[in-house]
Amino acid sequence: MNADHPQVVEVWNNVFMEFQRLADKSLIKLPAQSVDTGMGFERLMMAVSGVKSNYDTDVFQPLIQFIAKEAGVLYHGTSPATVTDLPTTENEKTDIAIRVLADHIRAIAFTIADGQLPSNVKAGYVIRRILRRAVRYAFSSLNQKQPFLYKLVPVLADQMASIFPELKAQQAFVTRVIEEEEIAFLKTLETGLRRLDALEDAARQNGNVIDGRTAFELSDTFGFPFDLTALIAREKGLTVDEVGFKKALEEQKGRSRGDQETEQSDWVTVRDTDTPNVFVGYDQDEATAHLLRYRKIDKKGKTEYQLVFDQTPFYAESGGQIGDTGYLESDFEKLRVIDTKKENDLLIHTTLDLPQELTAEFRARPDAARRTLIRNNHTATHLLQAALRRVLGEHVQQKGSLVNEKLLRFDFSHFTKVTDAQLREIENLVNERIRQQIPLDERRNVPIAEAKNLGAMALFGEKYGEFVRVITFDKDYSVELCGGLHVANTGSIGYFKITTESAVGAGVRRIEAVTAGAAEAFVDQQLDLLAQVREALGNPQHLLTSLEKQTDEIAALRKQIEQFAQQAINQQKTQLASQVKDLNGLNFLAAQVQATSADDLKKLAYDLRQTTPNLVLVLGADIDGKPQLAVMLDDDIAKAGKLNATTLVRELAKEIQGGGGGQPFFATAGGKNVAGLPAAIAKAEALVAAGA
Ligand SMILES: [Zn+2]
Repeated sequence: MNADHPQVVEVWNNVFMEFQRLADKSLIKLPAQSVDTGMGFERLMMAVSGVKSNYDTDVFQPLIQFIAKEAGVLYHGTSPATVTDLPTTENEKTDIAIRVLADHIRAIAFTIADGQLPSNVKAGYVIRRILRRAVRYAFSSLNQKQPFLYKLVPVLADQMASIFPELKAQQAFVTRVIEEEEIAFLKTLETGLRRLDALEDAARQNGNVIDGRTAFELSDTFGFPFDLTALIAREKGLTVDEVGFKKALEEQKGRSRGDQETEQSDWVTVRDTDTPNVFVGYDQDEATAHLLRYRKIDKKGKTEYQLVFDQTPFYAESGGQIGDTGYLESDFEKLRVIDTKKENDLLIHTTLDLPQELTAEFRARPDAARRTLIRNNHTATHLLQAALRRVLGEHVQQKGSLVNEKLLRFDFSHFTKVTDAQLREIENLVNERIRQQIPLDERRNVPIAEAKNLGAMALFGEKYGEFVRVITFDKDYSVELCGGLHVANTGSIGYFKITTESAVGAGVRRIEAVTAGAAEAFVDQQLDLLAQVREALGNPQHLLTSLEKQTDEIAALRKQIEQFAQQAINQQKTQLASQVKDLNGLNFLAAQVQATSADDLKKLAYDLRQTTPNLVLVLGADIDGKPQLAVMLDDDIAKAGKLNATTLVRELAKEIQGGGGGQPFFATAGGKNVAGLPAAIAKAEALVAAGA
């Protein structure tokens, strides 16, 4: 092979695919054998152009030149001696980063234009990781500390305009998604960098090694990848314990494997046939079915069976529409179907039991009522999408959908919140179409080119065959490529109501809505709530005016209460000041007062000290059933040292079964015995008289 030598290049590599390996390790011949040459377009370009690298071809050069210019660096076309070597010079380091960016932006932009958004699951996670890898290279090798990748989208979109126009059409959206991802990840990088700084001392004490578990935490909690940790560590003269990191990673993998243990047996053939597995649900609500094959699935100790029939009216989950449930009946038994899914081209019915009579003739009956609700919601989704494009604009693209018996959920590209007025307009449009009782126009096996001519809205993410199914409700309103189930007439949806509008990601909004009975129930609920509010307000004639009046009244009353409270405090202060008496040449006051909190008591003590010179003050209060004491001394008295607020309060606290403390001039105590408050107050005078 190319022996890792950059001047020896593989142009193609034939792989012959013949067998499938079963769970018991035995091999069976594949239904169709094939050869994969692996000769990609870029490799071919390189061979034809007579250059030594994919990156020197016209496919990559425009991007590479743009990146170099934008980052303010030069591209030298250097690479390490072998493909597995690390860069040894600054030029190599820069060149590698530029190539990574030029390569990754293609994968990222195409995938997002194809409808796959970055996320934390499945394909979305793959794209997020590729994007983050590119950001890291820009960050550490090209010194780009601000979002950078998104700037490449227009260059790529122009370059691909004639062969992948979808990217150009969605340029603003794709750019925005990438920029938001970059902003979020750069923040993570920053947090991780700070964390690394904080770890530096510990590493120095650990023989200049960052331990593996810490590196794993950085990657797991902060999304801070190992190679970047290692890179930054190197810059600080540290190393990272890679063995320890891998161990921590393995441990976590082991944990998550244990979480979702599913064991799947091989298919068992019941009936051999060449024409299996036909979906007849477009025309029939139930059908006769013969079992072709089944397999057993063990999920965490729970057993399920998957059954495939020669034909079925059960709709298998796809295109956002949930799978059918229902029954399989034979002369011998009745089995519950809990879900229907599509796997490759197989329509798979899931049951909890295996049929006793495998070769019996089954009557397959999907739940009819549930299916009606699903049909309503699916057609309403089409009407909604058309309304969104009319009200918000042609930039609205479907980014995901869910249709089940309870609701419909529709995700779409749009940059700002949909206003209440727009939502109302959208609802009105959909309800208008419902009242028009538009009949379903369903066309199957339409050549894809013809479907597009009809103006059918295709999804970028979906892969369509040569022939498609076109669902139309008013050819000037809604024409879509769709494999789902629909109502015969929009009138049967009855009523459409949006329940929520929210953001799900950068430039993607989500609308949830309900139809028919569920829509009525939703409106009834809102009206009931309103009725309850009205009743609680005493059935006023004008609800809003009455509510506003009440709010104003409450504000006025609150203000009045505050005024009264302040008056009471002032009165208490005046009264207390008049009770001050001379005790051995000091101004002495000990009294039980009204206070609502310890803070209140403290404030009162400070206020009294301000107005009365040379004061020795002891205050007690019952605060929600708990006794509280405060002792306050004039500064000069405290400084003289004969009396001490802390000593005094501790002595007095014995009367209320409590304790406390503070400073020489001010101290407080709490206790358990409210009844002891008068004794504590009385004791104060004796103590002060003796002490002073
Ligand atoms: Zn559809």
